[in-house]
Amino acid sequence: MFKLRGHHLFCLLGYRGMGYSPEYTENMTRLHQELRREPNTIIQIVEGPDHLCLKYPNSGEYHCQNSVIYERDAVILKKLNLKIGQVKSWDSIETSIQKYVTPSDIETICDTCSWRAYGVCEEGVQEILEGKGLREVR
Ligand code: SF4
Repeated sequence: MFKLRGHHLFCLLGYRGMGYSPEYTENMTRLHQELRREPNTIIQIVEGPDHLCLKYPNSGEYHCQNSVIYERDAVILKKLNLKIGQVKSWDSIETSIQKYVTPSDIETICDTCSWRAYGVCEEGVQEILEGKGLREVR
């Protein structure tokens, strides 16, 4: 079981192997591959720092405790009809994304995120809507 906060449920959709440091991307790639291969992997929804934040580089500002990030988590969980503490399989989270999310939500919910400009997160949502699942990271 992996513990994940709200906004990381979206970040995983557009993940293409980019990240804050080699250690961060190694950890995220491992999780991403596991969810791709085993969509029935269990996720617990948590508040605040999670499995991915564990490897956030400890140089500079620790944005994982930033209030803007907590707000983004809350907006995303509300949109997906999920609550802190819930335990869900990754494929049921994909089903919630198909039901409640559109690619344009990234523009409004993630307006201050520096990764948004790459356009990969919208693309990732679209691929989930098309039933393609997570894209393989090469
Ligand atoms: S735009 Fe940023 S916060 Fe939003 S899903 Fe993408 S990487 Fe995550």
